[in-house]
Amino acid sequence: MKRILTGIQSSGKPHLGNVLGAILPAIELSKKADNECFFFIADLHSLTTIKDAEARKNNVYSVAAAWLAFGFDTGSNFFYRQSRIPEVCELTWYTSCFMPFSRLSLAHSFKDKSDRLEDVNAGLFLYPVLMSSDILLYDAEMVPVGKDQKQHLEITRELARRINHHYKTELFVVPEIKLDEKVMIIPGTDGQKMSKSYNNYIDIFKPKKQLKKDVMKIVTDTKALEDPKDPDTCNVFQLYATVASPEQIEEMAANYRAGNYGYGHAKTALFELLWTKFEKEREQYDYYMNNLDEVDRLLSIGEDRARETAVKVLDRVRKTLGFS
Ligand code: ATP
Ligand code: MG
Repeated sequence: MKRILTGIQSSGKPHLGNVLGAILPAIELSKKADNECFFFIADLHSLTTIKDAEARKNNVYSVAAAWLAFGFDTGSNFFYRQSRIPEVCELTWYTSCFMPFSRLSLAHSFKDKSDRLEDVNAGLFLYPVLMSSDILLYDAEMVPVGKDQKQHLEITRELARRINHHYKTELFVVPEIKLDEKVMIIPGTDGQKMSKSYNNYIDIFKPKKQLKKDVMKIVTDTKALEDPKDPDTCNVFQLYATVASPEQIEEMAANYRAGNYGYGHAKTALFELLWTKFEKEREQYDYYMNNLDEVDRLLSIGEDRARETAVKVLDRVRKTLGFS
């Protein structure tokens, strides 16, 4: 049996990149009978960027509703809010005392923003340490992530090995990185990585008109309708290719190269595909967002169960470090 763990920050509504890069691959793994999955909402991490309490609460529900809408079986797995298991904060203190400052200063979460140090809080600097606690606190064996999180996972592995080596014991399970090579970093409407915090995302749960409006806003070059176009450098095509069938992808690529096919046509095709492909999940998402008591109930069951593991692991850590 493999213990698998993955989380999504409550920094906004989950988007197409989260769905394809995290939710779907993780749910696929959870369906294998011999896997045990810990899927959580990283609400503590979201405080590094979101300070508005109501906004975060709402985001927590929307991330939870997305996991549920895609069919996560909470009965046979673990489903919880990171903040409801505060043991993770205690572990973060312990492990941060083993984390070299210089290594942390190379982490993407910090480095990407280090040219504007006035915007960097200490929580953001510690982001990868809290993330390592998320993983080590539950003895997770495998962590599926998108490429954007690979480096943070490497930091976790190094930290676990360093502490194990220091105490000459297998205190922490060193997690395996599961990177799905098929899933690329999904681009946003502006061509950068799609991110909740860049406001460049496609929200597949939006009502029809709004989804269409967002798709129509995808940035392209200014080639005229009749010009042949290069699918490989076009954002609309790249997004279409993440959800379409091989035949559909080939057909659109041929249309691009032939000319007389405008970006408006491609955007309409992308919108229609997104609208029909995720119809069932959209309905389910709306159902959960209208029944938050049910979401709360499922989360608190998961939290009681996840905490049992966290308490045991933290006890082991306290003993090894001489705190009990
Ligand atoms: P934020 O902007 O707040 O960092 P985010 O959109 O990057 O939010 P995260 O909560 O950081 O989302 O990441 C959740 C999961 O989704 C991670 O496993 C991450 O690898 C994956 N993910 C995020 N963005 C993308 C993307 N554009 N393409 C593929 N996977 C992604
Ligand atoms: Mg991110």
